[in-house]
Amino acid sequence: MSNIEQTLSIIKPDAVERNLSEKIKEIFLKNKLKILESKKIKLSVEEASEFYKVHQTKPFYNNLCKYLSSGPIIAMILEGEDAILKNRKLMGATDPKKADENTIRKMYGLSIDKNSVHGSDSPDNAKKEIDFFFNN
Ligand code: ADP
Ligand code: MG
Repeated sequence: MSNIEQTLSIIKPDAVERNLSEKIKEIFLKNKLKILESKKIKLSVEEASEFYKVHQTKPFYNNLCKYLSSGPIIAMILEGEDAILKNRKLMGATDPKKADENTIRKMYGLSIDKNSVHGSDSPDNAKKEIDFFFNN
């Protein structure tokens, strides 16, 4: 059975700053993830805090929100077969040092916080995160 999904991807400030957006988008396209929407924006720290509020009890929350709002990001809706899991696999582990070869974070991530990309981790979160960026 086919399972076409949509997921939210973000190219984070460290990767936008290093002009990696086109290279990262090519990886999605090569792996049969369509980019339905794409926009470059800069979030306020309040908006970033809202986006990442599932992490509000974590010790790294404040830095995380400051970081996501530190520069322009590119938010995208990706669509394809098993898009949520497929994107997570293409991204690699949260810590670039632990990510598999040829994953985006292994190739481009600088550190656990500056790890170049975000991707939704479940259908519920994908829907919420797509709404956050594209349905207002
Ligand atoms: P992922 O982005 O792989 O889904 P999480 O949802 O666990 O990872 O965390 C969200 C983001 O918070 C990560 O992408 C990373 O930027 C940051 N982060 C996670 N764990 C840490 C940590 N231990 N120290 C600093 N930043 C972290
Ligand atoms: Mg996550």
